[in-house]
Amino acid sequence: MTGDDVDRRRVQVLEDIGQVLGVNGRDYELQEGDVVDLPADNTEALLERGAVEPIAEDGGDLPTLSGPPEPVVDDDGTVKLVRPSADGHDIRSAELGTWVCRRCGTTTETPVHNGEVQEPHECSGCERQGPFIHRILDEEPSRKGAAAPQQSDLAPSAFADPSWPTPSTISDEGYADLWEDVCDWIHTNWVTDEEHLYDGLTAFAISTWLRPNFNFLPQLLVMGKHETGKTRLLTTLARVSYRARTPVSFTPAALFRTVDKYDITLFLSEYHDLNDDLRDEVNAVIKGSQKRGEDVMRVQKSAGGEFAPVDFDIFTHVAIGTQFDPPDDIVSRCIQIQTKPADRDVPVWFDEERAEELRDRLLYARFRLLDSEEWDRAEQRSLKWLNDRGISGRLREKLLTLVTVADLWDQRDAIKPFVEAMETEAEEDAKDTDDALFIRAVRDLAFDELGSTTVLGDADPWEGLAIPLSDVADRFNDMTGRDIGPGYMGQIRGRLGLEKARHSDGVVIRDEELREKLEALCEQNNLDWEHSGYQNPIQRLEDHEKGKRRCGECGRDRFLTHRHVEEGAHLCEECADELQEVIDRE
Ligand SMILES: [Zn+2]
Ligand SMILES: [Zn+2]
Repeated sequence: MTGDDVDRRRVQVLEDIGQVLGVNGRDYELQEGDVVDLPADNTEALLERGAVEPIAEDGGDLPTLSGPPEPVVDDDGTVKLVRPSADGHDIRSAELGTWVCRRCGTTTETPVHNGEVQEPHECSGCERQGPFIHRILDEEPSRKGAAAPQQSDLAPSAFADPSWPTPSTISDEGYADLWEDVCDWIHTNWVTDEEHLYDGLTAFAISTWLRPNFNFLPQLLVMGKHETGKTRLLTTLARVSYRARTPVSFTPAALFRTVDKYDITLFLSEYHDLNDDLRDEVNAVIKGSQKRGEDVMRVQKSAGGEFAPVDFDIFTHVAIGTQFDPPDDIVSRCIQIQTKPADRDVPVWFDEERAEELRDRLLYARFRLLDSEEWDRAEQRSLKWLNDRGISGRLREKLLTLVTVADLWDQRDAIKPFVEAMETEAEEDAKDTDDALFIRAVRDLAFDELGSTTVLGDADPWEGLAIPLSDVADRFNDMTGRDIGPGYMGQIRGRLGLEKARHSDGVVIRDEELREKLEALCEQNNLDWEHSGYQNPIQRLEDHEKGKRRCGECGRDRFLTHRHVEEGAHLCEECADELQEVIDRE
C-alpha cells in the first residue's frame, strides 16, 4: 500500500495522537510507541509539536544536524539561507530578504537591490515599522515552532552576493561515497604521480567544511616550477572547499577583513609574484590563521578618519602556490605538495555542475559533523592511531584533522601512505636541519683554529687541522639548546663523508680534503663560507685561570670557573649556570 509517490519519513510516535488523514489519502492510527512511515507533509506539524520523533530506516538514531546559516544560490540566482532546525532533524530555508514582523508575525519580502538587502519600510500586515527579524538568520526556531530572536553576527546584505562557489541546495544523498567522489574530482582535474597526495588533498578539501571543529589547521604549500599545475590544483580544490576565495590582487587590509568577516578559505596561487610588503602580510596570515584564538592586530582607518588598532580573527585554511620556498618558519607550518609537469591530460574546463553537486553534499556533511559526537569519536580514534605510530608535535597537529576526516569515511587505510610520506618528509627536514647545524659548527671551529694558530712559511694552515667531535657537540648544543653526545655527531660526520682519526682524548675530524669538502657542504646547505660569529658568551676558564676571587656577577668571593666573553668578567659556577640558562631560553 505504498504505491503512491509521496515522500515518507520514518517516525516514532511519542504520544497517543489518534487518527490522522495522510496527504496520500490514507488513514493513520497513531498510538504512543508506534513506528510508522508517514508522508513527509504530515510529519512536519507533528514534529513541531513534539508528538513524533524521526528515526533512521534501520530504527537507529538519525544524525543530528547543527550549524550556523549558510547561503545557497539556486540555478536561477535566488539566494537562500539554510540552517538545521533546532531539534537538528530538519533543514529550514528562507529566501534572502524574508522578514518577519515581531508585532504581528506577518512575513514581508524585500528584493536584493544592488547587492544590498534592506528591512521593509513597513509591515505588510500591521503597517508599523517593525521591528523585524530576518528569517533563518536572526531567529532560532524552538522545538514548539515559536521563533525566538537571536543576535546575528552578519547583516543579511553580507550574503546578497556570495563571492565564492556556493552550494545550490543541501543534499544528503550519497553521503557514504563523498570521500571517493571528492577524491575522484581531484584525480580528474589535477595530475600527480604521487598517488597518496590525492587522499591527503581529499581530506584537506573536506576538512575546510568542518573548520569550527578544529583548533589547529593543516595549511597547504604547493611548490613547483612555472606551468606545473600549481594554479590548477588550487582552483580544483577551491571548487570543493568551503567558501573558497582565490584573489589575484588584494590589499592586506582587505585580506584580513574578508577572512574575518566571511570565514573564507584562502587560495593564493602567485605567492612568488607578491611584492615584499604583501608577502610579509601573507606570511602573517599563514602564521595567524593556523591556531584558533590567535588574533592579528592591524591599524585601520575608521569611518571617522581616525586610525585605530583592529583585531582580526583570521583562523582559516590557507593554501598558497609558489615557485620558490617561503621562509623556513612558514614552510614548517604547512603540508608541502610538490608539483611536476603532467603526464596525462586533464579536461580543459571544469565540470561546474559536478562541482556544485559535490558542494551540496559537502554542506550536508558540514551540518552533520559540526559539533557532533560522530566527529569527537573519530578524532579520539585518530589521535590514538597517530600516538601509536609515534607521531607527535607539530606533525601530529597538522595530521590530526586530516586523519579524522579519513576515519569518518572509513578511509584510514587510504590515507596511511600519505601519513607515511609526511613522516618521511619531516624526518628528512629534521636531518637536513641537523646536518646544516653540524656543518656550521665544524666550519666555525675550523676558522677559530685557523685564526689562533701561527703558520710558519708558506705551509697550508688547513693541513693537519683536527677538530674534536666533542667540541662539535658542544658547539651544536650551544646553538640548539639540546644535549647531544659525540655519538650522534659521529653519525652526521659519517653521512657527510668527512674522515676521522682517533686521538688519545677522543675522535677528531681529520680530513686531507677538509677545506674542499666543507666549502662544498656550505654551498649545498646555503651557508656562507665565513665564520658565523656565533660564540657562546659564557666560556669555561682554563684550569690555571680558575681560582677564588670576586665574581663579576654576584660580587661575592667565590671559586670562579667561567668567563663572560663579551663583558670580560669572571664568574662563579652558579652565576655562569644562571646566565647560560637565560641565553639558552633566548
Ligand atoms: Zn506587523
Ligand atoms: Zn657569582
